[in-house]
Amino acid sequence: MKSQQAFQEAVKVMPGGVNSPVRAFKSVDMDPIFMDHGKGSKIYDIDGKEYIDYVLSWGPLILGHADDKVTEELSKAIQKGTSFGAPTELETKMAELVIERVPSIEMVRMVSSGTEATLAALRLARGFTGRNKILKFIGCYHGHSDSLLIKAGSGVATLGLPDSPGVPKGTAENTITVHYNDLEAVKTAFEKFGDDIACVIVEPVAGNMGVVPPVEGFLQGLRDITTEYGSLLIFDEVMTGFRVGYNCAQGYFNVTPDLTCLGKVIGGGLPVGAFGGRQDIMERIAPAGDIYQAGTLSGNPLAMTGGYYTLSQLTPASYDQFNRLGDLLEAGLTEVFAKHDVPITINRAGSMIGYFLNEERVTNFEVAAKSDLKLFAAMYKKMAENGVFLPPSQFEGMFLSTQHTAEDIEKTLDAFDKALSAVK
Ligand code: PMP
Repeated sequence: MKSQQAFQEAVKVMPGGVNSPVRAFKSVDMDPIFMDHGKGSKIYDIDGKEYIDYVLSWGPLILGHADDKVTEELSKAIQKGTSFGAPTELETKMAELVIERVPSIEMVRMVSSGTEATLAALRLARGFTGRNKILKFIGCYHGHSDSLLIKAGSGVATLGLPDSPGVPKGTAENTITVHYNDLEAVKTAFEKFGDDIACVIVEPVAGNMGVVPPVEGFLQGLRDITTEYGSLLIFDEVMTGFRVGYNCAQGYFNVTPDLTCLGKVIGGGLPVGAFGGRQDIMERIAPAGDIYQAGTLSGNPLAMTGGYYTLSQLTPASYDQFNRLGDLLEAGLTEVFAKHDVPITINRAGSMIGYFLNEERVTNFEVAAKSDLKLFAAMYKKMAENGVFLPPSQFEGMFLSTQHTAEDIEKTLDAFDKALSAVK
């Protein structure tokens, strides 16, 4: 197995052998699979083994691997140079496309990752409102900046605690954490701290505790409370953007935030993030305004090419196809798990699909965490052996691309059937 050798070399020179923790496959208790290349819905490891890929680089590859048009345009772009440090026309075209697609965005700033997008959006919200505190939800991930790497304090609607050494206590105290889908807790927090809450940041469909959609009225409730208290509502659509719907989750649920963060799909596999929103807020960003944000490679020509030619190939019909394949996968999983008498709960939103080894309806992290993690890990290994590459964590969803087919779904269900037979 070449992957094992490759990992032994990697751990000598990189912390944990990887450049991002989840790639170490720790929560499924195995060594990572090293990948070589991908095409369409398939990815190939360094031993040449083929997998149907539901990770898709953790979301960006909505057109599948190495899309022909994206690859062709990237080849052309690279011939012209990789970065200029001066404006290019494609940045404006990209901004226009994003503004056309995302209901809340009137002006946008490009960055290079989702973390950068949320970090900048928080600074903007704090600068704009002149307030210090932010409210986030337990189990939502917004990248690894200090203010957002916070776990719950004790009790409902209390101030947060650092989730990692290195996050200052003083920073954590400005982050209030409450359970996802718990509007009452949000109200309590606003009654206590409302005058100093700059913003609420939320994944409009949570994708970092498995897939957990908002319950009826949750997003609108957040919109109403933030408006009442003069606080900003930020949708972190780094994962949901262009995945949950043609006009992102905000278009799908018809709730318009003040600011939106984007990443993943918007770069089509190149390092891109963005934040945008109401013009009067965005014009506070330097150099138009006084709130500082910058980036040497922001709006990079290759990144903009990857993003522009990814977004421009998506159509409303792409989402109909995701729904059809999602229906097939959901019905099939329900049947296969019932056959083996293993409880499962399936949550879906557009091209995001999450399954929990848990009978209860999953609406927040507390319930998601009741999933049978041992069984998940055992099944994961068998799925990989059977040629299906799933996210190596119960708390991450599966993604579909426009290149996935009904045949891929059929093979995947067959692999689940075999995996369940093997582990039970
Ligand atoms: N927000 C959300 C909702 C995410 O899912 C992620 C990454 N999984 C981020 C922010 C951070 O993005 P990045 O990894 O590009 O920094």
